[in-house]
Amino acid sequence: MRTYIEPEEIIMLEKAAANLRDKLLIYLLFRLGCRISEALSLKVDDIDFTQVTVTIVHLKRRVKLSCPHCGAGISRGHTFCPKCGERVVEAIVKELAHRRQRVLPINSRTLAMLKEYIERGGPVVRNGKKLIFGINRHRAWQIIKECAEKAELPKLVNPETGRVHNVSPHCLRSAFAVHAVKVNDSGDGLRLLQEHLGHASFNTTARYRKVSGEEHKGWYMKLWDNEENDNSKTQT
Ligand SMILES: [Zn+2]
Repeated sequence: MRTYIEPEEIIMLEKAAANLRDKLLIYLLFRLGCRISEALSLKVDDIDFTQVTVTIVHLKRRVKLSCPHCGAGISRGHTFCPKCGERVVEAIVKELAHRRQRVLPINSRTLAMLKEYIERGGPVVRNGKKLIFGINRHRAWQIIKECAEKAELPKLVNPETGRVHNVSPHCLRSAFAVHAVKVNDSGDGLRLLQEHLGHASFNTTARYRKVSGEEHKGWYMKLWDNEENDNSKTQT
């Protein structure tokens, strides 16, 4: 049972795409390693053809609670306001959406495909915004699943839960991360990968290093370094 898909399998997936839009979706998810929500909210304006970058907007929602008597910030566990001392029967709930964005470099092949797709009139106008895709999450999942079946890709297993699942949009993001770790698993490489993927926690990024097996392999091989050196000595 496999835990992630290889870059060669992504190529098979791209070949199985029924049209340019589906192919572009697969392309972007792997080449950018972005979240499906991020890919689906991409706008034509987010692509900078001169700088060769794509701006990813990530909305993070956070709930803020405050005291109904004095307005001081409180936490969920507070029965009495720590500032005014009044009993808090019902706190004021305010949802804060904070907008974060990251500017990602993109390779020329993906950029060329984006250009062709835009020129062919692929983008869809929704609420005054020119969206690259204009499909919903459900449709995106379906596209990836159908292409994976057509390309006869294996089902994957989640290394943490042991559950078997179909190839999903998130698998392309994982495949990107594993590919990146295999090419460069130095501290700097992982830090850049964390920034690129938009992970709040470094531990989430470091998990891919474990999944790729490179860290384990490197550690194991080092155990026998002396022996390898001895062998080379006896041979010469
Ligand atoms: Zn108060």
